[in-house]
Amino acid sequence: MKTLLSVTAACLFCCFAIPANAHEDHSKPVITKKSEHEGKKGNYMFIDGIKVHESDPAKQPQPPVVEPGAVLGAAPSDAIVLFDGTEATLTNWVGKGSEPTKWKLVDGSLESVKGGGYLRSKREFGSCQLHVEFATPSTVKGNGQGRGNSGVFLMGQYEVQVLDSFENVTYPDGQAGALYGRSKPLVNVSRGPGEWQSYDIIFHRPQFDEDGKVSKRATFTVLHNGVLVQDHTRLSGGTGWAGPHAVGEYKKHADKGPLTMQDHGNPVRYRNIWIREIAD
Ligand code: MG
Repeated sequence: MKTLLSVTAACLFCCFAIPANAHEDHSKPVITKKSEHEGKKGNYMFIDGIKVHESDPAKQPQPPVVEPGAVLGAAPSDAIVLFDGTEATLTNWVGKGSEPTKWKLVDGSLESVKGGGYLRSKREFGSCQLHVEFATPSTVKGNGQGRGNSGVFLMGQYEVQVLDSFENVTYPDGQAGALYGRSKPLVNVSRGPGEWQSYDIIFHRPQFDEDGKVSKRATFTVLHNGVLVQDHTRLSGGTGWAGPHAVGEYKKHADKGPLTMQDHGNPVRYRNIWIREIAD
């Protein structure tokens, strides 16, 4: 009888202990919001107890700086080549609406033009493996978020930050390799201004239920210059700027979206962009 009771109790415990979708843990990260913080009014969001865009290293330590390796990746035979430095592959891209992009073809790369708007792929993608190379301007201007800022947006909205983070301190969740406002990189493996760098990104799209609520969060694995900076990071929401210390929430969208590159007013260059669609 005692054994039977124990088994029954164990089964009941299991029923309550295992969530319906064991792959998702909706309790993490813990997100809290305040309308006032340290005597100042505003929109403050805290992820696992750390303020979004916290810049105090005592509260949000900077990622360690490490030296990157030397090899950049060529497209494998099954990749969709979105840009290989030619005029022909420039036709894979558009600007605002469906107008031709205002970005410039310079020395086999695509250069962001201030006021030129985002660069957007005509083809749309969901879950994918993406390789992209970028170079922040060799002439250093500005600091923090104003230095070599651009971004690689999966599905047109989830940003892997591009920034000149070589000896350029900013809030960790907004430096190169960050999922903007959501997750700082594990290390800062940035090369210097004007040097070519790479991102290799494994992205699984978010999924939504019929009520528009996220049922499976997006995940990102990111290698920056071949070094792991996001390790299967579950994205806790959107990455769009929603104030100095807040980013947007998930909003239901289609299963596919364009790849976009940000015009943030700095002449950041891109080259060798290829993508492979993967299962959700
Ligand atoms: Mg950016």
